[in-house]
Amino acid sequence: MTPLLTTRGLTKAYDGLRAVDGVDFSLATGEIRAIIGPNGAGKTTFVSLVCGRVPPTSGTIVFDGEDITHMPAHLRVRRGIAYTFQITSVFPNLSAYDNVALPAQRTLEDGRAKTHLHAAIMSALEHTGLADRANIQAGALSYGHQRLLEVAMGLALKPRLLILDEPTQGLSDSEIDGFMGLVRDIASSATVLLIEHNMDVVMELARRITVMNAGKILAEGMPEEIRADEAVQRAYLGTE
Ligand code: ATP
Repeated sequence: MTPLLTTRGLTKAYDGLRAVDGVDFSLATGEIRAIIGPNGAGKTTFVSLVCGRVPPTSGTIVFDGEDITHMPAHLRVRRGIAYTFQITSVFPNLSAYDNVALPAQRTLEDGRAKTHLHAAIMSALEHTGLADRANIQAGALSYGHQRLLEVAMGLALKPRLLILDEPTQGLSDSEIDGFMGLVRDIASSATVLLIEHNMDVVMELARRITVMNAGKILAEGMPEEIRADEAVQRAYLGTE
């Protein structure tokens, strides 16, 4: 089966530092994939390249058979790549509903009736358990709910690939449990690429794990393979 996402030789250099260094990566449709690795391994830079937030130094990115290496970020969103990043990015003065509406309007506006837009927004809020908080200002939501709101902002775009960068950071144990259920649910209709430091979450959610170290892929495999991989243990798991 054709992969949903493929990168070949993907590289991003900053003043001689190769943050991402010749990465060959492939993601199948419907997967939940986790990318793990020590701080500074290049995980965020890698997904930023996929989203078009930063341009690559060299290499290619193909999404659903189309070369998107030089495609502007907003067009990648229209192709179905949505992401939420490490830093909380909600607009605190807007309601939860309007936070979800903003990116959805920009992306789904092409020819779709307003009722469809409203349905997509409400569905994303319901999915994340925030429907009854739709009219609350985002800044008044708890930290955990703000993180869920970011996921809702991505979901309303009806993504084919949802990229989540450290989504469980700062969440309580019960919030993490709820989040894992949500990701499984999302994975029934979208492919999920997850950067995650919480190894319990990674081992439980991911079907396959990609381990990055110093800009390169160090290992890739099923959770049990990664757990048993000595190079991974040396570079990462042992240092936790
Ligand atoms: P973390 O788990 O801490 O988020 P990471 O694996 O996501 O780490 P990146 O944030 O991708 O790692 O960073 C990879 C390397 O690239 C680091 O050495 C970082 O300092 C460097 N880097 C990232 N962005 C820039 C930038 N805009 N300018 C210069 N160097 C950068």
